[in-house]
Amino acid sequence: MSHVSRPFTPGGPPLLTHVLVRLEIHPDLLPPWLHPGESVSLPVPAIYPCEAQGEPLLSFLAAGAVYPAIVRREAEIFFCFDYLETLEFVRLERYCRVRRPWASYVPFGYRHVPIAARRLVATLLTMAKRLSRGSGFPAFPLEKALHTLTYVVGRCAAPSGEAASRGQPVPGWPGGKRYCVVLTHDVDTPHGIRAMERVWNIESSYGLASSWNIVGRLFEGNERAIDRLAKDGCEIGLHGDDHRLRMPYLPAGAIIGRIAKYKKFLETYRIQGFRSPYYLRSPALLSAVSRLFVYDSSIPDVDTFSLCVDRGGCCSVLPFRIGTLVELPVTLPYEIVLHMGVRPRGLNAFWREKIEWIKSAGGMILVNTHPEPSYLLEPDVSRAYGELLAALAGDGSAWYALPGEVAGWWAGAGVKGKGKGAS
Ligand SMILES: [Zn+2]
Repeated sequence: MSHVSRPFTPGGPPLLTHVLVRLEIHPDLLPPWLHPGESVSLPVPAIYPCEAQGEPLLSFLAAGAVYPAIVRREAEIFFCFDYLETLEFVRLERYCRVRRPWASYVPFGYRHVPIAARRLVATLLTMAKRLSRGSGFPAFPLEKALHTLTYVVGRCAAPSGEAASRGQPVPGWPGGKRYCVVLTHDVDTPHGIRAMERVWNIESSYGLASSWNIVGRLFEGNERAIDRLAKDGCEIGLHGDDHRLRMPYLPAGAIIGRIAKYKKFLETYRIQGFRSPYYLRSPALLSAVSRLFVYDSSIPDVDTFSLCVDRGGCCSVLPFRIGTLVELPVTLPYEIVLHMGVRPRGLNAFWREKIEWIKSAGGMILVNTHPEPSYLLEPDVSRAYGELLAALAGDGSAWYALPGEVAGWWAGAGVKGKGKGAS
């Protein structure tokens, strides 16, 4: 489009705030991945009065009314909503309540609870949440709304436009690749350390490399096993301190102090990234992580399973920035659906539609698995994972990358804009 886009300027105080809207998109701007008639809804922080007259390219439908959000008039395109505010609102999970879970107050370590009991509790909690919340926003496992908004804005924004100046909507992947594949693991226990090589052998047989987020306390004494992975080209990340639930709820300074205990290993393995145990996140944790690491990978795109939200997640299948930190959303928390009644042999069928959608939408398939009992150490789960790798490997249109490489790409040449907040 050869239009000039006019940045958003509020035409008055918001008419509505914190509201779930349905996106009504001009037929010429519909993304190819939406089925005809498919509706997408997104929470927005505010709806403002729109003074621009013209043809609506995007409207918000809420409370029985239609609110123009992007309007075209001759050669100009007017934004009647704050795109960047909306991005932050969704990606930083301001649309839902991210709370401290009660279990984080328990004075003893979660690892003192037998593994079978932990898995049972996780299953019961996950099922209870699904029953209590029905089908709301975001949709699990596949939520298209934010990516749809980004696509529409990208089609509307001229190169000098508001969105483009922040590196939006999508910078694309290196070498003209269509989408990105990242393999990660969380190593929670000594079982996981012992199983690393076995899992790595499966991945390397497909020519894939992976990242291993290891609990801080497991580094000491396990250097030989970790060295082997690092020498083979794998990336090493930090997975918290002791895998207890408390760390995200300490003040940022205390979190930094805990992580600093592992300085020697952070340096030895050139650790750039952090994943929080149980996907728990808090402002203090993100603040601490942003001061020590290049990237964080603790926020799923859609989260109906962690202890800190009922329904949440950043709703993004692309990396994004939180200040100087690059956030790499976990878009394929592979084994988590075992707690939702999916059988190991059904894992790949469960994820297939989402994988295909991310490919068509140019997103990032970021897989997380655990080389732990009940997960990858189960023969059926391990077999399914091998099949997943076989399906993902060998596609010339995919960028197979380590998370540190993706973070470097997103922070550097690939994405312009060093603005504060999400970009
Ligand atoms: Zn973990």
